[in-house]
Order: sequence, then structure tokens, then C-alpha cells
Amino acid sequence: MNSARLLERFLRYVKIETTADELSGTSPSSPGQLNLSKVLYNELLELGVKNATLSPQGVVFATVPPTVAYHTPTIAFFAHVDTSPEYSAHNVNPIVHTNYDGSDIVLPGDPSKVLKVSEQPALKDNIGHSVITTDGTTLLGADDKSGIAAIMTAVEHLLENPEIPRGPIQICFTVDEEIGHGTDAIDMSKFKDTACGYTLDSEGACRIDSETFSADLAIVTVHGVNTHPSVGKGILTNATKILSEFLTLLPPEMSPEQTADRIGFIHPYSITGSVAESSCRIILRDFETTRLTEYAELLEKIGEALMEKHPTCRIEVKTQKQYRNMRDGLVKEPRAIANAIKAVEALDREPIMSVIRGGTDGSLLTELGLPTPNLSSGQHNPHSPLEWTSLEEMELAAKTIVELAKLWSHEE
Ligand SMILES: [Zn+2]
Repeated sequence: MNSARLLERFLRYVKIETTADELSGTSPSSPGQLNLSKVLYNELLELGVKNATLSPQGVVFATVPPTVAYHTPTIAFFAHVDTSPEYSAHNVNPIVHTNYDGSDIVLPGDPSKVLKVSEQPALKDNIGHSVITTDGTTLLGADDKSGIAAIMTAVEHLLENPEIPRGPIQICFTVDEEIGHGTDAIDMSKFKDTACGYTLDSEGACRIDSETFSADLAIVTVHGVNTHPSVGKGILTNATKILSEFLTLLPPEMSPEQTADRIGFIHPYSITGSVAESSCRIILRDFETTRLTEYAELLEKIGEALMEKHPTCRIEVKTQKQYRNMRDGLVKEPRAIANAIKAVEALDREPIMSVIRGGTDGSLLTELGLPTPNLSSGQHNPHSPLEWTSLEEMELAAKTIVELAKLWSHEE
């Protein structure tokens, strides 16, 4: 594995600003994403992947041809070019701490930002490694440019070493994952004969995420009655106050502030309102999809109780589906996880099986029929100026991809 080229790639990708923009309404949501996609497309052509394509939305797709003469399943690797809108990625200035000594790292662009070993125990696993941080003023974008760099380096390695057995390997770089639109621009017909996919978008090293939350959005709207307050007696029904009352009736033990591990939650995250009408957006999350119905029923019950208490108001609860736990769809292709475990073990490492309290492109892809668990790419502290990665963990991700290529070349 060429680690010098892996590092060069990663440092080049993070300098291209690709922040997703939730409000733009375009696809991709920001022009920078298309700039990185063009770089990746050209780089694939230079590596010799002649069938690479770039869609107007910025999705890069290519198939690395097989080296074995017999039929084997096709597998796919995914990573996303965008970074989170939660923190600036303007002028990312990555700093490589070679032969990291295990001490706290003060970020020079903003010395108030310190990566503390006490808060980042994974730093200890990277002593002697090349740890890469920001200068403290931006996020790093290792989420998910570490995944892209790992996939690119694995492709390069496979092409340079045709003696490594491999079946057809698809690669796909997606846009706007961070704003929930990661699969909108993907042409799923390209994956109709693909056995499974892997997103390279998980934390640290050797992690295999086989479950995500199931997710619905609930919108609670209170319709009140507005009058001039001077003549409000007996007439005015204040939707803003009734919505506030609604929120106080949500059980605190079902909030993200009080839940962890496999326990789901009900989380109001934005409100708008006036006396006549007020509404709140509430996300419902659980590993068990059926629990989402129970959460929605609880919201309806609270609404009914308040309508009884305030007969002149009307309360609506509307829910919409967001994504589903990938576990439900991974059952279809048990080799997806089994081979991921074997690939990590082949590198003499212990696979860490984990669940994500959130969603990935893989949750959406799995639901669309392509079983897609999520693998480590070396990211830490995403969406933050304290984001970091290490060259060795990215290299491990690239090696895992190569091992997966080998393992799947032996499958029927
Ligand atoms: Zn990501």
C-alpha cells in the first residue's frame, strides 16, 4: 500500500471546500462538491479506470474490472464528498503530526482548541503514527475524505497488483450525505446485480456498523384563535403557549439527553410559531422500527389531552418516514458482514461490531435493496474543529478494502 500517496491524496481532498448547504435547493447543494468530484473522476481516469463517469449532480461511478476469469459477485464501495454544514470548511489547513508522541495537541490557529488525550482515548492507539489535525479554525473533513482517500488508494493498489484475485468492484462517490440526500442522485440501476456495498464512513479503525437507527420525523401543529389581545377574553386561543405546554409533556426520560446505547428517543429540534399557529419538528429514533409507531401514538395522545383541556384549539400530528435500521435489509446478504469480519481478521486486528445512533448512506442504500454496512475510515470527532485522523488508520481502511476484494473473489 502506498502510504505516501494516500497522505498526499487526503491532504489535497480536504483543501477543497465541499460544505453541504441545506437551503440551496440544488444538486449538489454546493459547487465545491462538484469540484472535488471532478478531481476524483480525473484521478480515476489517470489510474486507468476508463469507464469512470461523473453525473451533473457530482456522483462519481466506476467499475474496477475483475482479474479472475470465473464469475464472482460484484461488490461496491461508497464514500461521500460533502462535509457537514455544522462547521466551516473554508481554508482547511491540515497539520500532520508525524511520529505522534501521545501528548495533548494544541491547535495553532486557535490555541483555545486542544485535543486532549483524556477526552480522546483513541489518540493513545496512534502513538508513533502520523496524526492529522486541523489548525483549530475549521473542521478537517476526514468525514468522509478519509473514506475517499482509502478507496482511491485501494483501487490504485489493486490495479498495480493484478495478481491479487478480485471480482468486479464498483466505486461510487456520493454528494450531500450530510443533509440526508446522499442517495438522491445515485442511479440505483447500476447496482441491481451487486451483492452488497460498503460505506467507508465510520469512526476509528476496525469498526463494522451493522445497525443504524430507524427514523421518522413528526410535525406537531397547534391551530389557535387570534384576536387583538385587548378583546381576547374568552376568545383568544394562544397556539404558542399550547405548543409549549405540549413540549413540557414529553417524557424527559425519552430524550437524547437521557438515553444512550440501544435506547431510542423523541427529540424536538425546531419550533416556529404565532398565536394563530405554532408548530414543532420532532425527530423519532429507535433501533426497533415498530417503536416509532409507539412514539407517534404518544404524541397523538398528548395532543388529544391538550385539545380536551383547550377545546378551541386543534392539534395535528403528522409523521413522515426518514430511514430504516439497516439490520432489516442486511439479513438478505449475510456475507456482507461475515466477509467484513474476515477482512479485518486477515489484517490481524479484532473487528469491533457496533451500532450507530444515527443513519448513513448505507441505511438508505440497504432500504433501496443494496445491503450496505459501514466500515471504519479513520475519522474521529467529525463535524468539529477538533476533528482528526491518522494515516495508519486510513491505510488500515484501504487494506480492509483489498482484503474484501480477495474474499469476495472466492464467493460464487
Ligand atoms: Zn460521513
